[in-house]
Amino acid sequence: MVVGDISTGTDVLIIGAGPGGYVAAIRAGQLDLDVTLVEREAFGGVCLNHGCIPSKALITATGIAHEAANAEEMGIHADPAIDMGGMIEWKDGVVDQLTGGVEKLCKANGVNLIEGTAEFAGNHKARVAHGGQGQGSESIEFEHAIVATGSRPIEIPGFEFDGEHVLSSRHALSLETVPDSLAIVGAGYIGMELAGVFAKAGADVTIVEMLDEALAGYTDDLAAPVVDNMEELGVELHLGEAAQGWNETGDGIEITTEDADGEESTFGAEKALVAVGREPVTDTLNLEAIGLDPDEDGFLATDDHARTELDHVYAVGDVAGEPLLAHKGMKEGRVAAEVIAGEPAALDYQAVPAAVFTEPEIGTVGMTEAEAEEAGFSPVTGQMPFRASGRALTTGHTDGFVRIVAAEEGGFVLGGQIVGPDASELVAELGLAIELGATLEDVAATVHTHPTLSEAVQEAAENALGHAIHTLNR
Ligand code: FAD
Repeated sequence: MVVGDISTGTDVLIIGAGPGGYVAAIRAGQLDLDVTLVEREAFGGVCLNHGCIPSKALITATGIAHEAANAEEMGIHADPAIDMGGMIEWKDGVVDQLTGGVEKLCKANGVNLIEGTAEFAGNHKARVAHGGQGQGSESIEFEHAIVATGSRPIEIPGFEFDGEHVLSSRHALSLETVPDSLAIVGAGYIGMELAGVFAKAGADVTIVEMLDEALAGYTDDLAAPVVDNMEELGVELHLGEAAQGWNETGDGIEITTEDADGEESTFGAEKALVAVGREPVTDTLNLEAIGLDPDEDGFLATDDHARTELDHVYAVGDVAGEPLLAHKGMKEGRVAAEVIAGEPAALDYQAVPAAVFTEPEIGTVGMTEAEAEEAGFSPVTGQMPFRASGRALTTGHTDGFVRIVAAEEGGFVLGGQIVGPDASELVAELGLAIELGATLEDVAATVHTHPTLSEAVQEAAENALGHAIHTLNR
């Protein structure tokens, strides 16, 4: 049945139901606002359907197989077989559970959900083409709008995604069989995380990265243990080489790369995964109709209330710029909803953590020592190596360290960098310390459970103060 054009109204129209949009919707519902959330594809957005959750599910599953296969030292002799189809089915089940939960929570908070594609049609008006062919459309008048349309993977010339030879991360996270060999273009966090997944699943993985380093943006001492582990897994890293193009061969593809001196190399692989970054989805919103002008990269500039240059339009999540991380979008979504409801909410980016779920993991928050110096502090640091942690030894994972950065004056915690087991979890303690204005003394004086990895955070603080017990003081 074709549904004709109808017209409705709402206090808050939210476009896109990823972590930015659905959090904004639930929070606005909790604050008794009349909210409409439009999603064109799947509730939960990239994060739940094709990003954070699926990648972490496969990282865990392939990690279990790899751990079991390499635990002779612990007296375990196993040779696990990976059934990729079964793994993908399990991952899809996890995704379904979470996306179903998001939908239920939205409804329970009174959010009006619409499946369709929205675009602006005026200052306070949007049009939504309903999902499915011949489903009609609707006009929605709104008081406030929140743009939460997220991002998509960047395509590089010559490597357009076809889902067969050239994959995006989304394709890679749904492969039903493990390719014999996989070329990964891009050694950012997505490329490195997926390199670990496929290497542990049994593929021969080669990474091509234009820059001279992997995990650019992270200091060398954080990236080095990850790169060493990749090499131990047999991953070949071609740094300083740009992927130029590919040709089909009988059993896969041949990729050509070029280094800074113009020297070309070629190598074969069954498939290529391109993970060179993401770009905002703002070009399909008819922004001219509302008078919004994205920057040259397509991002929408916002103030510390998540508000764009228009008083009644907010932008949250990846469309609002770096860092393109789910929890940053969630925070912005919450703030946008609260500001619309008249609450005194504002964004504060001093303690936004970032994690890389490689082996070992990386977790960072706040300032590095160099950033603290640049900001005018006289920083002190303390470090605890995991090889001196009893709990790390019992897990068999002792690479890495916890570093804490604090201001010499007053001892306030300014930042932390962790590389090692569960760094993605441990970094939360340092984020909390920054948020609460805790000092090195506060962290050092907090009794931590023994034996846990979290003791390394306490020891790093003690080390900065010169009285760590389980490591030599500087
Ligand atoms: P998205 O999640 O992109 O959602 C936007 C939604 O808007 C989509 O569902 C889209 O369909 C919808 N939409 C777009 N246009 C319209 C329209 N016109 N009408 C209606 N709906 C529309 N981040 C982390 O913090 N931790 C991680 O571990 C992590 N891992 C990742 C792994 C991978 C492989 C990838 C690709 C990303 C990962 N990310 C991770 C990044 C994270 O997924 C994003 O930062 C997050 O999803 C951004 O949320 P968002 O709400 O801005 O947008």
